[in-house]
Amino acid sequence: MAGGEKTHIDYAYDLDLAVKPDSRVPVFNREFGTFTGAGVPLFSLGGGPLRYAISEMLAKFHARRGYYVVETPIIASTELFKVSGHIEFYRENMYLFDIEGHEFAVKPMNCPYHILIFLNELAKYRSKLPLPFKVFEFGRVHRYEPSGSIYGLLRVRGFTQDDAHIITPGDAAVDTVYRVFEEMRMVLEKLFGLEVSGETLKVRLSMADMALLGKEFMGTREEWEGAEEVLAEVASRIQSDLGVEVLRLEGEAAFYGPKLDFIMIVEESGIRREWQMGTIQFDFNLPRRFRLYDVVEENYGIGEVYIIHRALLGSIERFLGAYLEHRKGRLPFSLAPIQFGVVAIKTGGKADRDIEELSRSIAEGLRAAGFRVAYKESTKTRLSSDVRFVESTAKPYVMVYVGEREVTEGRLDVRPYNLLEMRRERELVEFRSPREAVEGLERLASRLEASVVELAGQAPRIPGDYSHML
Ligand SMILES: [Zn+2]
Repeated sequence: MAGGEKTHIDYAYDLDLAVKPDSRVPVFNREFGTFTGAGVPLFSLGGGPLRYAISEMLAKFHARRGYYVVETPIIASTELFKVSGHIEFYRENMYLFDIEGHEFAVKPMNCPYHILIFLNELAKYRSKLPLPFKVFEFGRVHRYEPSGSIYGLLRVRGFTQDDAHIITPGDAAVDTVYRVFEEMRMVLEKLFGLEVSGETLKVRLSMADMALLGKEFMGTREEWEGAEEVLAEVASRIQSDLGVEVLRLEGEAAFYGPKLDFIMIVEESGIRREWQMGTIQFDFNLPRRFRLYDVVEENYGIGEVYIIHRALLGSIERFLGAYLEHRKGRLPFSLAPIQFGVVAIKTGGKADRDIEELSRSIAEGLRAAGFRVAYKESTKTRLSSDVRFVESTAKPYVMVYVGEREVTEGRLDVRPYNLLEMRRERELVEFRSPREAVEGLERLASRLEASVVELAGQAPRIPGDYSHML
């Protein structure tokens, strides 16, 4: 595949995230994983650390922003989905099964569980639970898709949402929604290095067709007007802050409420592509079904309350599918399956023992510090083909070369990748001992992790030996 036209699925395949939809060889690289055939992504050796790191960073980030971080079960009795209306309106997209004569479902959405959490906590602590109440989950959901429509990471049957639900009083709604937009911006910029500006973002404001109220759109005119006013105000704030284009679409809302959708515009080899990103949706359906309005009125004496569904990236798998294509298979340092690739360049001479010893202790030192490291021995003559292979497949974020000169001069030749410029840079790290060499590389890593640390606190470290990938 090196040098050829790679699709996002090929890139995702390199990271063992994707499931190929057809009868082609199901595994791009046999090292990476197995084909499950069920239309669900497999996160194994490459994708595993990536998924873990994203979930940990997003959990920390949301906790810092005042969300309760929860994890709800994949299955539930269909009773829950009867209350939520899913069985009535969404049944054909759900997986249902029987346990000892009782019907269960695989959750297609996290919302019913999140509302249950609010109601349970409220029952225990009465009105002590502050509003807005915000609950976040890195939530795995499953929805039926016909096998013909499954495609890489873009259309799968099981995916993960960076999902949250917010219960907010009407008078706090504008600030609450605007904070969600800020959160999306922070995650895109600091975690993924994507610029959010008038050039790169578009906002769609989808509203009801008031003539179809009670038919295609549920809720009262008052509810719709109140919620649309909130979203319109936030949209116009975003518009004046960033010069972002806002499209107002009448009749395009979900049946249960109006919404804001965020579309990212990226240039790829001269072609403008649009990515569906996060969404903020009001809901007049679930609060009624779960008697939320009454419960909030009783406990807080508040008449006007909204429930908001929101996701910043949407489906993590779909986002990664598009992101990997955009970045030519590269991930930021904190998420890269291989963070350091250490290459010993042997000469066949006396220095080889020193070269091997130094490069091995650097690889081990970095692993001990919690980095994912691959180690390879090469020679001067094989080096360029080895490097080509590594760059086209495993894509370590930082390459560290250890040859004769490095050993004698006490200076490492280090090549960190610049994700924004999409090219390797060069840096020299001076050292007097293997320990100092590792420390120098750790300092480089701290610089590469800085924006993530700002976002979520300590960057997650999931150490690992990924030498088999080089
Ligand atoms: Zn929801």
